[in-house]
Amino acid sequence: MTEIDQFMAGLRKRNPNESEFQQAVEEVVQSVMPWYLDHQDYRQSQILERLTEPDRIIIFRVTWETDQGHVRANRAWRVQFNNSIGPYKGGLRFHPTVTQSVLKFLGFEQIFKNSLTGLPMGGAKGGSNFNPRDKSDREVMRFCQSMMTELHRHIGEDVDVPAGDIGVGKREISYLFGQYTRLENRWVGAMTGKDTSFGGSAIRTEATGYGCVYFCENMLNHHGEDLAGKSIVISGSGNVARYAAEKAIEKGAKVMTLSDSGGFVEFAHGMNREQLEFAHVLKEENRGRISEMAEQFDGVKFYADSDPWGVKCDIAMPCATQNELDAEGARLLINNKVMAVCEGANMPTTAPAAGLFKKNGVLLAPGKASNAGGVAVSGLEQSQNAMRISWTREEVNDRLQNIMREIHERCVEHGSASDGQQVNYINGANISGLKKVADAMLGYGVM
Ligand code: NDP
Repeated sequence: MTEIDQFMAGLRKRNPNESEFQQAVEEVVQSVMPWYLDHQDYRQSQILERLTEPDRIIIFRVTWETDQGHVRANRAWRVQFNNSIGPYKGGLRFHPTVTQSVLKFLGFEQIFKNSLTGLPMGGAKGGSNFNPRDKSDREVMRFCQSMMTELHRHIGEDVDVPAGDIGVGKREISYLFGQYTRLENRWVGAMTGKDTSFGGSAIRTEATGYGCVYFCENMLNHHGEDLAGKSIVISGSGNVARYAAEKAIEKGAKVMTLSDSGGFVEFAHGMNREQLEFAHVLKEENRGRISEMAEQFDGVKFYADSDPWGVKCDIAMPCATQNELDAEGARLLINNKVMAVCEGANMPTTAPAAGLFKKNGVLLAPGKASNAGGVAVSGLEQSQNAMRISWTREEVNDRLQNIMREIHERCVEHGSASDGQQVNYINGANISGLKKVADAMLGYGVM
């Protein structure tokens, strides 16, 4: 039995039925183990065993009332994973597929991602199996207020600072933060992703998508390529996907697709700015379906219940959800000569798909590096709130670009192959992210 097998057997035993969490840990352990075994001090202090056990998990009931007066009860969690290098930080997800396993995987990933940004942020994640889709604004408000009535006890600007994620956008953050401020009777930056009218940072909404494109550009440049003129297949049409599309178009790339859980749309000649604006309004304001784009524009075709991976492209950006890009999708992309996959979502690529990309020399940027722009600007929002100032769009964008460049450099530093060829971004991100947290844990002693 190898050290990895032994470690994973213990983890599976301690966390049965948590497949997403097991998957996320296995990916990290496989890539860091040789490096970890070379560090006697980390091994002796059981850093990996400690790092895979959350500091605490808070589970609670959220009771609320529909517009018709029916009482509903949902389950909610906050997984406070590790605060060695800063207050807990990580989004809230509202989606019917949310389970403790999903939030543990996301919280675990968040430790590495936050460390990679170079900012002082620990790892956490939270959410609920509440489905905001098809709910009225008032129903969402009542749910958010009820959730915060419990959550406020466990968060705070120096303790734990939640943000948005799938199903939690400006509307939800506003309801949640409003209730926090009311219950605590003080205005502090205890949440990020707020509207700019009440303490939000410029560029926060755009940051994850923009950052993903900046990372992709760094990755291509490092390997002698450029983004301009490249065709990109993007999945999802949420916050991350649409702003990745926006920045890619600005950089002269051709965006071929967007998708949602109903299927994908293909833009015959690449998406144009008018279509992008339509998509923003469709998803942000009208909460509509992506299929409506095909009804609205010539040259846009909708494929129901399908993934976009069969569409020819140079670059793939999975920006919807975990495990959306499997081995079958990877084969389609490889057959079409994809050169890079840059993850906008968290863990969108399955392990077999990642293996195929590696075998075929496709560059793969893991989400914990390439989608870290969102939490990075959240970190900048915390700083602005603490100083009671707000930076301009240009200022925040400059900082975001610098942070993404530095994350890329950290990946290169720890992920370069000995033959000087392609960078292994998964190894680079995991080792670099782990090192900083592990050193802090060592410094604190046994706790
Ligand atoms: P949104 O809720 O804005 O959008 C999510 C998109 O993914 C929608 O198009 C949605 O389609 C689709 N989607 C969600 N679940 C599924 C599913 N099970 N099957 C198919 N499609 C699905 O979320 P975000 O854009 O904020 O987040 C997308 C990803 O990026 C997530 O993995 C998130 O964790 C990650 N991320 C987000 C950050 C942020 O700042 N927002 C930061 C870092 C990572 P539909 O509407 O039909 O459900």
